[in-house]
Amino acid sequence: MPVNDEPQPSDAMVQIASGAAKVLVVEDEETLLFALAHNLRHEGYTVVTASRGDDALKLARETRPDLVVLDVMLPGVDGMQVCRLLRRDTAIPIIMLTALGGEGDRVAGLDTGADDYVPKPFGMRELLARVRALLRRTAPRDEAEAGPAVVRSGDIEIDRVRREVRRDGTALKLKPKEFELLLFFVRHPGRVFSREQILDEVWGYDFYGGPRTVDVHVRWLRQKVERDPAEPVRIRTVRGSGYIFEG
Ligand code: CA
Repeated sequence: MPVNDEPQPSDAMVQIASGAAKVLVVEDEETLLFALAHNLRHEGYTVVTASRGDDALKLARETRPDLVVLDVMLPGVDGMQVCRLLRRDTAIPIIMLTALGGEGDRVAGLDTGADDYVPKPFGMRELLARVRALLRRTAPRDEAEAGPAVVRSGDIEIDRVRREVRRDGTALKLKPKEFELLLFFVRHPGRVFSREQILDEVWGYDFYGGPRTVDVHVRWLRQKVERDPAEPVRIRTVRGSGYIFEG
């Protein structure tokens, strides 16, 4: 006789529910590092910490975290450089922390391949919400929900599972957000989207970068998918409205 016939959640669900992901926190301010580590552990994450950029790179290689919370100003190797080096060979989600506030700095942060950018000072609850959101967005999705593994548009082929893009059979190097933006466009050809709609759909929640973030990523993407980025025919600007992807 079954003792318990309640449906049991799968291992993957248990992991998401208990937040058992591993987070690497890199911050040289001792008090903040302690607070971040303490709060993340309280949420159920496994936490590894580093207070120098060079140590962070070593730890990332050794412990293979699921997400990195990364301060910009660090001794050893600075956060921007750490981000660039991590991005060179992984798609690991990265949230950057910084005291710098100007848009130029935000764009520089995104240019290094960070997925999110949280200016200091920030509330711990907000940071935890962003960690959760980013892990949710980057977690492998249910196949049926996500659609076919390979999506095609003209000479562009996107392999969603391997996160690879080819044009005319040649592999393109895309940053994680460029990849998601292209996938979004290819799945919605012939429709005009405002920058705000694109932010909602691709970035998924209130993002500090603002609508210009979309313009920056569209510009980068055009460099890679347009024959002539100066005269784009795929991702066209609709003046006063936003962007449209011509299939
Ligand atoms: Ca610092």
